[in-house]
Amino acid sequence: MKTVYAFGGGADHSDPRQKDKAVTGGKGANLAEMASIGLPVPPGFTITTDECLRYLKQGADFTADLRQAVAEAMAHVERSVGKGFGDPADPLLVSVRSGAAVSMPGMMDTVLNLGLNDATVEGLARAAGDERFAWDSYRRFVQMYGDVVLGVDHGLFEEALEIAKEDNGYLADTEMTADDWRALVAEYKALVEREHGRPFPQDPQEQLWGAIAAVFASWDTDRARTYRRLNDIAHDMGTAVNVQAMVFGNMGDDSATGVAFTRDPSTGERVYYGEWLVNAQGEDVVAGIRTPQYLTRARREAAGAAALSMEEVMPDTYAELAELFDLLERHYRDMQDIEFTVERGKLWLLQTRSGKRTASAALKIATDMVAEGLVDERTAICRIDPMALDQLLHPTLDPDAPRDVLTTGLPASPGAASGKVVLDAATAERWAERGDQVILCRVETSPEDIGGMHAAQGILTARGGMTSHAAVVARGMGRPCVSGASAVSIDLGARTLRIGGRDLREGDIITLDGGTGQVMAGEVASLKPEMAGDFATLMEWADRHRRMRVRCNAETPDDCRTARAFGAEGIGLCRTEHMFFEASRISAVRQMILAEDEAGRRAALAKLLPEQRSDFRAIFEVMAGLPCTIRLLDPPLHEFLPHADADFADLADATGLPAERLRARAAQLHEFNPMLGHRGCRLGITFPEIYEMQVRAIFEAACDVAQASGAAPLPEIMIPLVATARELAILRTLVERVAEEVFAERGHSLAYLTGTMIELPRAALMAGEIAAEGAFFSFGTNDLTQTTLGISRDDAGKFLDCYIDQGVFARDPFVSLDIAGVGQLVRLAAERGRAARGDLKLGICGEHGGDPASISFCEEIGLDYVSASPYRVPIARLAAAQAILKAEKLVAPGG
Ligand code: PEP
Ligand code: MG
Repeated sequence: MKTVYAFGGGADHSDPRQKDKAVTGGKGANLAEMASIGLPVPPGFTITTDECLRYLKQGADFTADLRQAVAEAMAHVERSVGKGFGDPADPLLVSVRSGAAVSMPGMMDTVLNLGLNDATVEGLARAAGDERFAWDSYRRFVQMYGDVVLGVDHGLFEEALEIAKEDNGYLADTEMTADDWRALVAEYKALVEREHGRPFPQDPQEQLWGAIAAVFASWDTDRARTYRRLNDIAHDMGTAVNVQAMVFGNMGDDSATGVAFTRDPSTGERVYYGEWLVNAQGEDVVAGIRTPQYLTRARREAAGAAALSMEEVMPDTYAELAELFDLLERHYRDMQDIEFTVERGKLWLLQTRSGKRTASAALKIATDMVAEGLVDERTAICRIDPMALDQLLHPTLDPDAPRDVLTTGLPASPGAASGKVVLDAATAERWAERGDQVILCRVETSPEDIGGMHAAQGILTARGGMTSHAAVVARGMGRPCVSGASAVSIDLGARTLRIGGRDLREGDIITLDGGTGQVMAGEVASLKPEMAGDFATLMEWADRHRRMRVRCNAETPDDCRTARAFGAEGIGLCRTEHMFFEASRISAVRQMILAEDEAGRRAALAKLLPEQRSDFRAIFEVMAGLPCTIRLLDPPLHEFLPHADADFADLADATGLPAERLRARAAQLHEFNPMLGHRGCRLGITFPEIYEMQVRAIFEAACDVAQASGAAPLPEIMIPLVATARELAILRTLVERVAEEVFAERGHSLAYLTGTMIELPRAALMAGEIAAEGAFFSFGTNDLTQTTLGISRDDAGKFLDCYIDQGVFARDPFVSLDIAGVGQLVRLAAERGRAARGDLKLGICGEHGGDPASISFCEEIGLDYVSASPYRVPIARLAAAQAILKAEKLVAPGG
């Protein structure tokens, strides 16, 4: 079995083992792939992972066979670059890097410039015509090798460099001269001898084997083992070692370095795009020490830049590079991001990978590549990150506009908004009505703030996590939101707020970036979302391939229209309580809650009935016969209670009852644990008149719309927070009774379903019995996550970050379903439910219905639909298609 594989420089790459990551590691396999399609990769060789395992098992010794194979491979490298390893006249220098089958970033440092010693450094200086460069390279090598291979504390080298600079009165490394570096090398070598007990190795062969041994040994360090444990990587794979000829872009004016994209990564346009620098090293481009120049003449001219492009300065090398761009795209069938170096007129590719791109570029590239015949439709669908679509669905801040950042909170709902600071919902509504753009700033929001949130351009909260009320509602409404910005403190009395040490007053303008969580002073220019043609095309393709339906979580006609425009095929969750908060009805709702008996409640409910009926009518009209899952009242009643004195006074006026008595009744309703208290179906069972009113409103509205338009609405009445089949049985009977009453009164009947949410562990476990009582399940995974983990969704923000940092959860379980845990309950409920009732309809309406990873799980367990907030509908459509395509493994290679 071969232990060493040479790549580049005309090596033979025909052995399939060489491109097998298990044998040569990810990096080695990729280098072989690049070299084998004719790319000018600096030549080198890869020592296999098997050799690493053998070395570790047999006690840190190299076999004679390995030494022989390495010597042969090194001779190949020497021949192909025309330099000798250790040759004092014109030395070959190499890099030595680890490369496991699975990338393990940070596990092992790289050793560069290996092969330098007191003699070869002079040769390098002569060959490069640059003494400073040679001595700088040497000191970097001594430092890297000393640290990585010999175990000398990295900090000691840094310290010596700092002292050298101080002694010379320099501020930056760039001020160090050739002689300064030469002196520092001497110090470094003395440092190594002192710390390591032996002189710095001068023999390049000894350097090479020392580096190889260090890479092998790095596989077994505590750091690496921990990394593997945390990332589920097996310990028995070993790492490969890649030894590769160094190339330098800083060897004079015929040398250069740069980065390039085969298409424009911002727009996706099919034009070459990139930056380069003459006589420079890779890090000079990245670190911004010098301003890079444009790659192409067209770009340079468009930018009005004077510094010539590579196309103009090195036309031949540029032409060679451009040819490679096409070759790379044909081979990898994706836009490539390339690092290149020109050493004395000779072009080398150091790396190529699929390039990062904006969402609109991703769509353009995917649809263009289908048109060009480079990829098929399925591959194109799988190329787009569903979450990236978010960028296209909301206005975004102009990336070039200056930002005066006050603080950064959680990026709770994407998009950008500028407006006047307002500190409460009523003010938000008032100011918005008079035409102001406002940003609602609250410590946290409650359902009472709904009107203000809707009126506001954006929402900022000091507390709360990614699934806090503010975050969920804002995403649903498509309002940008920054939540949990703990540097915000609000003084409601003085009508001021302090953000990160700066004082603002109500009415001052701020800007939110819901995509990054930044809060900025003043207005920052924004760019309007564009629904480009490529976007629609890709969505159509996705629809052709998905199985699951996509519905929306929506409760206003506006949201329903938005969702339908984004392709929603029904409503998966209409939270009726949101309708209770509107200014025109909150008083009646409060009267209902504070009523002391059923008669009092019925009187108040009678006032609400026409309002609810008109809500549902409007929704049914927009949804035009599509299924609409309407959830009956769910939250604890106390959420609707008045707090302010003025509210109690208003209510006293409306009811004729003394404010004190109303207060006492409100106090009676206090709950210690409202999330586990008098809420959900428990309300319907204890106060059936509430659900009766809602059901009546739904069916009266449905009959009205059916009779007026002929398109019969398809209501699906959903009972929340069921734990037992009996609860559902009682409430289903109520629904059926009221439906029959309405149908009899109207002389018109229509099809409907009654079903339940599965949002408690007991409901999941008892799904078989529960399915006997209802026609559908909708997984309420917000509550199911909360009740399964025993973590309050409204308080998780305080500790969840720390949990994620420490790997307790890979992702926020309120954002991405905890498939291993909560997912078991969902899967089991789906199985038990379907076993009991073959035609049971299954969907999900928790926030997870808009999360691609969770959607993929929903596909796996065969749900009929997912439901997401309107602005997530396109994301869900794409993710649902990808779930199928990825499961079918139909993605073409390279995709
Ligand atoms: C749920 O619990 O997942 C759900 C959709 O209901 P809500 O978020 O309104 O509690
Ligand atoms: Mg719920």
